[in-house]
Amino acid sequence: MSIPVVHQLALNESPYPPLPSVRRAMRRAVAQAHRYPQFYPDDLTERIAVWCRVAPDHVAVGSGSVGVALQLLQAVMEPGDTMVYAWRSFDAYPLLADMVGARPVPVPLSPDGHQDLGALLAAFDHRTRVVVLCNPHNPTGTLVTTDRLAAFLRQVPRDVTVLLDEAYVEFAGGSVPDPLALLDAHPNLLVLRTFSKAYGLAALRVGYGLGAPGLIGRIRRRQLPFGINTVAAAAVKASLRAGSELRRRVETVIAERERLRRELGALGWHIGPGHANSVWLAAPDPIDDGAVALTDAGVLARHYPGEGLRLTVGSREANDAVLAALAGVGVRCP
Ligand code: PMP
Repeated sequence: MSIPVVHQLALNESPYPPLPSVRRAMRRAVAQAHRYPQFYPDDLTERIAVWCRVAPDHVAVGSGSVGVALQLLQAVMEPGDTMVYAWRSFDAYPLLADMVGARPVPVPLSPDGHQDLGALLAAFDHRTRVVVLCNPHNPTGTLVTTDRLAAFLRQVPRDVTVLLDEAYVEFAGGSVPDPLALLDAHPNLLVLRTFSKAYGLAALRVGYGLGAPGLIGRIRRRQLPFGINTVAAAAVKASLRAGSELRRRVETVIAERERLRRELGALGWHIGPGHANSVWLAAPDPIDDGAVALTDAGVLARHYPGEGLRLTVGSREANDAVLAALAGVGVRCP
C-alpha cells in the first residue's frame, strides 16, 4: 500500500498559495476568458522591463522560463550543435537540447557541488553554441560569485550563448552577481528568470529572459502568438505590485532554509551553504535511508539514488516533518 504524500517537497515550489490581491486579479481576468490575450505579451513585457530597470527591448517573456530557454535554443542552435552544462542539474536542460536536435554535453559538478567553470570551458568544441550556468545551482544550491562569473563570461567566445538560469535568484539574498550590469558588455548572455518560484505562480507558466536587444529579438521571433494567457498575465502584474509582501515570504523561506540547515547539521548531516529554496543532502551521508524515512513520513523529496536528496523548503510544519523523519536516520561522523 502506498503511503499518502502529506508534504510535497520535490519540485522546489513555493509553500504559499497566491496572495489575496493576486487572486482577485486572476478572478477579474477569468471573467474575460472569452477574449484572446494580447497577440504578443507587450504590456507584460513592458511592466517587467520597468520593474527590472531595463528597456523593453531587453526582455522576452515566455511560457515559464523553460519556454524562454527553448525559444533561445531554437534561435541559436542547429541540429548537431552542442550544449554544455554542469550535471547533475535541472532535468529540462538535456530535454530541451534534444528538442532542437542538439547534442547535450554534461560536465560533472565538482565534489562539493559547484559548477566547474574551467571544466565547462574545456568541454567546448567547434559545434558548441550554448553553455548553461545555473545560479544558484539546482539541485546543490551553490553559487557562482561575481568575480568568477565575470571571468567566465570573458572567456566564452562570442558565438556561444551563455544561458544564465536564475530561477532561484531571489533566495540568494543579494549575494549574487548583478548580471544586468553585464548585459550590454555581453551580447551573448541571456539571464533567465521565472515567476514560478519566489512569486509562487508555478501553475501559470510565466518566465522571462533578459539580454541585449539583438539576442532578445531572435528569441521573440520564436514566441507563440497568444502564448501567454490573460489570467497568468494578470497574476504576474498583480505580483509586481505586491513586492513587499512577496519579499517577506521569501525572507521566511530563507529563514526556514537556514533553520533546516542548522538543525540537520546538529543531527549530524553534512550540509554546505545553499542559496536556493532547497536544502541538499549528499552522499556519503545516508541519503538513501533518508529517502525511505521521508517517504514513510509522507514527505515527497527529490531523491537521486546514491547521490543526493533535494528537499524543497516548505511550510514550518513540513520542515518539522522533515527534521523528525531525518532525526531517526543515523549519520556517521567523518
Ligand atoms: N530553471 C531551474 C534551475 C529550475 O529548477 C526550474 C524548475 N524546477 C526551472 C528553471 C523552471 O522554471 P519555470 O517554471 O519558469 O519553467
